[in-house]
Amino acid sequence: MDRFFKLAFLTLGLAGCGGSAPEPSAKVQALSTQSIPAAMKGVEARQLFGKHARGSAQSAAPFGSYAKGCMAGGVELPETGPTWQAMRLSRNRNWGHPHAIDFIEKVSKKAAAQPGWNGLYIGDISQPRGGPMLSGHRSHQLGLDIDIWLRQADNLKLSRAAREEISSISMRRSNGAYTNSNWTRQHHEVVKAAAQDPRTARIFIFPGAKVQMCKDETGDRAWLRKVRPWWGHHYHFHVRLKCPDGSRGCVNQSAPPAGDGCAEAQQWVKNILNPPPPDPNAPKAKPRRELRVADLPGQCVAVLQSQ
Ligand SMILES: [Zn+2]
Repeated sequence: MDRFFKLAFLTLGLAGCGGSAPEPSAKVQALSTQSIPAAMKGVEARQLFGKHARGSAQSAAPFGSYAKGCMAGGVELPETGPTWQAMRLSRNRNWGHPHAIDFIEKVSKKAAAQPGWNGLYIGDISQPRGGPMLSGHRSHQLGLDIDIWLRQADNLKLSRAAREEISSISMRRSNGAYTNSNWTRQHHEVVKAAAQDPRTARIFIFPGAKVQMCKDETGDRAWLRKVRPWWGHHYHFHVRLKCPDGSRGCVNQSAPPAGDGCAEAQQWVKNILNPPPPDPNAPKAKPRRELRVADLPGQCVAVLQSQ
């Protein structure tokens, strides 16, 4: 890791992917400490959510925000579909809100129409009941964040074992300032199809890819607004869906700034190539505390207790 990235990670306290702070725009039911069952008190929420092998027997609903919440009624993405395969099945993170499952069905079909592609390899969505995870992501807690591999999905007959072993392929060079020779027009079209789905709020991908797509897009540019440069994300891109209409208790992130965001992405590239000196007044990164059930919306207790 070079100095610029090390600094950025320290300053922003980032881990996992797509960890930008959500801005609350919906009221989330607060939880008093009294209503937390004794067995859940003081326990890290990731330990409790990590134990559930299946979704809760409730109607589908996300509660809270992308990096602090849970999911009722999660649906399992079929391990293999006509135009996708879920990868790393041992993690049991192929669970999502029905919108996420439907999104994958539709976008993977569009990916399958690209020359050389038969669909998509799907990485992590969420645990069966969402919530914090024992390893990896900060977000992915609502069943609305989806990691999609940038490796061309040409073989949809991979065994379970093969899906543990094969890796995605990096698309970047120069620390993410540019795409490398693995990047193709098909990648552009796949990301575009994902961005054009009306349910998509944001897509996170490395800065060089965003700048490349800004250069290559000659038609409608509106979708580029949703594609945001971010750390990492050169083996996969991360799709974040909006809170479904009418889902009270689900907290949307504020919309991306107006415009195609291409100048901002170019600035990220400049900073990668020529890192700015450290800001002596930057606030010190606070050590991260693991979330407890009391930190999550009150509905998450019922999600954990449900059959
Ligand atoms: Zn992700």
